[in-house]
Amino acid sequence: MGSITRNLQGVILGAPGVTGKRVTALPKTGLTDFMRSIISKEQETKEPFYVLDLGVVAALIDKWTRTLPMARPFYAVKCNPERALLGSLAALGSNFDCASQAEIELVLSLGVSPDRIVYANPCKQESHIKYAASVGVNLTTFDSKEELDKIQKWHPKCALLIRIKAALEDSGARCPLGSKYGALPEEVTPLLEAAQTARLNVVGVSFHIGSGATYSQAYEGGIASAKSVFEAAAHLGMPRMTILNIGGGFTAGSLFDEAATAIKPALQAYFSNEPDLTIISEPGRFFAESPFTLATNIIGKRVRGELREYWINDGIYGSLNCILNDHATITCTPLACNSNCANPMCKGERSYSSTVFGPTCDALDTVLTGHQLPELQVGDWLVFPNMGAYTAAAGSSFNGFNTAAILTYLAYSNLS
Ligand SMILES: *Cc1c(COP(=O)(O)O)cnc(C)c1O
Repeated sequence: MGSITRNLQGVILGAPGVTGKRVTALPKTGLTDFMRSIISKEQETKEPFYVLDLGVVAALIDKWTRTLPMARPFYAVKCNPERALLGSLAALGSNFDCASQAEIELVLSLGVSPDRIVYANPCKQESHIKYAASVGVNLTTFDSKEELDKIQKWHPKCALLIRIKAALEDSGARCPLGSKYGALPEEVTPLLEAAQTARLNVVGVSFHIGSGATYSQAYEGGIASAKSVFEAAAHLGMPRMTILNIGGGFTAGSLFDEAATAIKPALQAYFSNEPDLTIISEPGRFFAESPFTLATNIIGKRVRGELREYWINDGIYGSLNCILNDHATITCTPLACNSNCANPMCKGERSYSSTVFGPTCDALDTVLTGHQLPELQVGDWLVFPNMGAYTAAAGSSFNGFNTAAILTYLAYSNLS
């Protein structure tokens, strides 16, 4: 893996969204030192910032390619639309799942050709459908008759995937999607008939087991349901379907290996007799979560007996909206620059039960409670790892704290 990820390094450094920007090479353990150097040299104003480690992106692509090579990734842009991340993924061969005109524009602006985009929003605004047609994005999803009507009107040549609600609904997902999207089993045949009548081209099936899924077996249920839709289409005399889209729901680490262990035998069991099948996937969290680290500054402090309360300059209305919207469990470590800790991360110091508040004047803006932290001071930093999925992408500028303005510094760690 070492030499493969090293070869990917050259590709990433020349990627759109990366080339021309400063990328700092890091030793394996160098992230903390890199953040300290940013803090001392470039952060007089002590604004929060991200570090995006492109070496982690390379390692994730490498992992995907070795573990699930048959399921071509279409990265879900909504998860994190940071340009250097998108550009690196594009250069490494990933395709893209876009859900809106702006996301399509963003991906095209990186030089990605429109045939590498799936417009995977089952309910689209008409003007966005018209735009997709005008730029040659020719693959989309639907799960209602009304959507077929809009597509027939604005983009009748578009290839379609019928989005189904996966049979095994309980995937233990942090963010289930089944209540909003996916045709029910009894709706499939009427929808296929409606497409047939409208002379629309349904080329395959897509499903999504839910984001942050913990029960990888759910992929098997989705794949089994998809097979029955392929059979329903054949029964109606439609041209043989050729695309199976197994969606997102992947998390890097052991859960990904579990997912692959569920997916591969299911594909074998249900789809080995489909000779022209293309399998695609829409991972978001898998690629975006672990490469990003967030550094926030402690801008306020209050002592109440044994309790320590801190205010930081990013919160629930910013990057840390993931606590509410993505049901994320977060951790942080201090990066103390003013405290008298014996070592940079205050390891081994006495700790206090601490509350960490975000910066807005809303009591809801509380990031952590009952968290053990050493005694920290105003001006110290708190660092949050694994902060790339559904974080900055969904932040606001409530109370004047603008999430979109948070800088991202690029690094490349050699993980071999
Ligand atoms: C959000 C979304 C994804 C990405 O999901 P993850 O769980 O982050 O992998 C993929 N496809 C569709 C249609 C989505 O809405």
